[in-house]
Amino acid sequence: MHAKINQIFSKDGKLSQNIKGFAPREAQREMALQIATIVEKNEDLVCEAGTGTGKTFAYLVPILLSHKKVILSTGTKPLQEQLFFRDLPTVRKALGVPVQTALLKGRANYLCRFRLDNTRQSGFLFNDLASVDHLERVHEWAGRTYSGDIAELSEIPERASIWSQVTSTTDNCLGQHCPDYEECFVVKARREANDADILVINHHLLFADMSLQTGGLGELLPGAEVVVLDEAHQLAEIASNFFGLRLGSRQLLDLAKDSAQAEVLEAEGNADITTLATEMEAGIRDVRRAFGNVPERGSWQLLEKNKDFQEKLENLKSQLDGLEAALEKIAERGKTLENCHRRAEELKTQLQFILQFASGDERVRWYEYYNQGFALNLTPLSVANQFQEYRETQKRSWIFTSATLSVAEDFQHFCAQLGLENPHSQRWESPFDFRHTALMYVPQDLPQPSQADYTEKVIQAALPVLKLSEGRSFLLFTSYRALQIAEDILSDMSKQDFPWPLLVQGQQPRAELLSQFRTLGNAVLLGTGSFWEGVDVRGDALSCVIIDKLPFASPGDPVLEARIQYLREQGANPFFDYQLPQAVIALKQGAGRLIRDVSDRGLLMICDPRLVEKSYGRTFLDSLPGMPKTRYLDVVKRFFAQFK
Ligand code: SF4
Repeated sequence: MHAKINQIFSKDGKLSQNIKGFAPREAQREMALQIATIVEKNEDLVCEAGTGTGKTFAYLVPILLSHKKVILSTGTKPLQEQLFFRDLPTVRKALGVPVQTALLKGRANYLCRFRLDNTRQSGFLFNDLASVDHLERVHEWAGRTYSGDIAELSEIPERASIWSQVTSTTDNCLGQHCPDYEECFVVKARREANDADILVINHHLLFADMSLQTGGLGELLPGAEVVVLDEAHQLAEIASNFFGLRLGSRQLLDLAKDSAQAEVLEAEGNADITTLATEMEAGIRDVRRAFGNVPERGSWQLLEKNKDFQEKLENLKSQLDGLEAALEKIAERGKTLENCHRRAEELKTQLQFILQFASGDERVRWYEYYNQGFALNLTPLSVANQFQEYRETQKRSWIFTSATLSVAEDFQHFCAQLGLENPHSQRWESPFDFRHTALMYVPQDLPQPSQADYTEKVIQAALPVLKLSEGRSFLLFTSYRALQIAEDILSDMSKQDFPWPLLVQGQQPRAELLSQFRTLGNAVLLGTGSFWEGVDVRGDALSCVIIDKLPFASPGDPVLEARIQYLREQGANPFFDYQLPQAVIALKQGAGRLIRDVSDRGLLMICDPRLVEKSYGRTFLDSLPGMPKTRYLDVVKRFFAQFK
């Protein structure tokens, strides 16, 4: 196998011969060899491959040659599609191996024929013309689609309300009792997934499937002999969402709506359910209004003294009990009523569980609310044991990879989070020449980030740099609030002082913004959250990345607070064992936006003075690619001048 892989990655190998622009890279070949060995021996590997290593091809080649059943999981749907529609077919074709592949998304991505028919038959009243139009389009498309993947109907926005009416959840799917079961797109996609040699999924789907609490079936993993997890740095966070319990107003509202609809379809003349469902909808709105003056996310303790909230929640609980009892009486009259009754029972149990939760069982109880709704959560403080248990159900090979897994060349933090004990581990640094193509600039005289006017000062320091880079920059913020302040300042500036197109996250969909950024060639983009990761802009359009603060998680976050407390109780040091490594990984991701190609060059400006003033700043510096550093604007000026 090793000889074959060496040949495939060589100058005149199959990849060079068949893939335009393929250039052999030593680190990529080494990584492929390492993965081949691990897969052969049925062992585990944690590996970090710096930007430009070509890690996707490095794992695709050995798994395509392995003759084993493989699950490939990545972080997001767009990455999943890129892997399935672009990278996997390219390498498979280049190698000429007849391997059967399949793409599987979460069930919310597939049309549910049964719910589509119900929505049409019950004369479900949408209160806007757009939804009526969308319903007709979906109906027309349903007759001609092969996969039922709603991404095919891109003319209907992802957020359109029609989708929740014509797709299923684990709650409302009738499964084998469904009259459309044989024609069901979800069932079909899952069958194809089972038959495939290589199945491409995403981490959300993987953990949903593992998690019985969220109705997972545990059906994906049993057949797999190898699991490759790309973008593995996201795993612990995603796992904790699925291994926990989340009861949202959306689930309750859906139950109310579906129950009323089921009554019309299966128990006509019995108006009780509709009345109870309407009352429950009002009860849900009452709870939302009763949160009062607390932060949008917070520990449950903040609500304990809020009498109004407790009363409204108790009232909602009674309404749910009432609806469940009424559904029980008529459940046998139809499959949808039976399904609604089962869901009402489950939600009742979950609400009860959350209300009676006693602290100390290694979970944190917390709430969040937004404009229209709310959620009550129980989140595990560590997913290590649960994840480890799943891994132990069957011996198979697990490959964890990402460009950002290590902290100062150490994988301890990543392994501890997932309960991985002594896996093989390896790092391959980026092959890009950071020493000659990049510069890190930490401006002098910026105040501590806790200072009230910090963002204003960051913008003042960034403006001369933007002049030197002639726009062509990302400004990445650690909070939405800071992004808004920056937007206010920059959009108020005159054309003379700020002559570059300003793009701001949230103005348009992310893909649209990035496409504009590439086309404009001199734009300045303000981003937070998702713009720190998975954004790939090559060439001169992105020549400067400016980061406002070291990305420590917000100290007010209820899950973080509880984890800190938990680690303290375990005798660990929460800052060094958790907060710092998390922030290092996030900074590596943000900084990783800058140099994406062998011919890229650019400036990384990190405004936070703690990077050089605090002793822990060393850990950040030791984790970033080695590049020259300066605190002087003159050096930045010379850096950009050499590329003119
Ligand atoms: S089996 Fe479930 S998802 Fe499939 S059509 Fe029926 S209700 Fe919808």
